[in-house]
Amino acid sequence: MDDYLIRAITTNKEIRALAVKSTNVVREAQERHQTTPVATAALGRVITGALLTGSLVKSGDEIVLKIEGTGPAGKIVADANQEGEVRGYIENPNLDLYQTDTGKLDVAKAVGAGELSLTKIMRMKEPYTGSVPLVSGEIGEDLTYYFTASEQVPSAVGLGVLVDTDLSVKAAGGFIIQLLPDASEETIQMLEDNLAKVSSVSKLIEAGMTPEELLEELLGDMDYRIMARKDVKFKCRCSRERSYELIAGLGREDIEETLAEEGEIEVRCHFCNNTYTFNKEEVEELLAELEAKEKGIPEVDTDQIVVEND
Ligand SMILES: [Zn+2]
Repeated sequence: MDDYLIRAITTNKEIRALAVKSTNVVREAQERHQTTPVATAALGRVITGALLTGSLVKSGDEIVLKIEGTGPAGKIVADANQEGEVRGYIENPNLDLYQTDTGKLDVAKAVGAGELSLTKIMRMKEPYTGSVPLVSGEIGEDLTYYFTASEQVPSAVGLGVLVDTDLSVKAAGGFIIQLLPDASEETIQMLEDNLAKVSSVSKLIEAGMTPEELLEELLGDMDYRIMARKDVKFKCRCSRERSYELIAGLGREDIEETLAEEGEIEVRCHFCNNTYTFNKEEVEELLAELEAKEKGIPEVDTDQIVVEND
């Protein structure tokens, strides 16, 4: 089954609900970054949270979800857009195994105390960042607190990642439930009762629940209408061209020095761990270009020369 996200609203217009299955996305992140189990769980939760939050912004906008804790995990970052595309990384992918007394992966211990920030990058507007202190380091609870404290939207967020014994990702997914301004006391009570029954998201995901079934579990008898359904995937924006521009930005001296030391230049993307290697000839060509630019010699791109016949 492919990964996808649904956004729904109850027919009484009192609750907005989102749910996502992100197993393949988190699996790809684990493979790309070669994360150990607790790092997989931490990064997977941030990626799943970013997918859900990213689906709440306007088309063309994007969000960056950042967890900066004092624990050994270091910085965890994921960005996502409304198209269901996400990418992310964790500063320390090789975390030792942290387990709670009950044998669960101890994400809170790996993350530590610190801050959660959410940046909205909007077209035609200045980016906006809201941040809150981490309440538990479990990510889901921290995002719940962010929505409630920073955006004043009472919310419940559940994020779960299940890691298999062979370190691969068995299941991942999550939900966001938000109270709309007209929510009645009755609705709030019913929701609280349902949420209390859902002890672990990853267990539901492991049981093979679809996002629709997840919402049914959370919303109980409340009818809802699905407003949007989107496939979600791990997608990075890096490219060989951008990496080339990045090297060019280093300046001639640094480039020459690295080339002399390494014999080539390698650029690694934080987000997806792809590497782009430029050999001696390619770097020398770049150096010649930079030199020409410095001397003010206009660049001639032979591909752009058009020979007209008439
Ligand atoms: Zn990349």
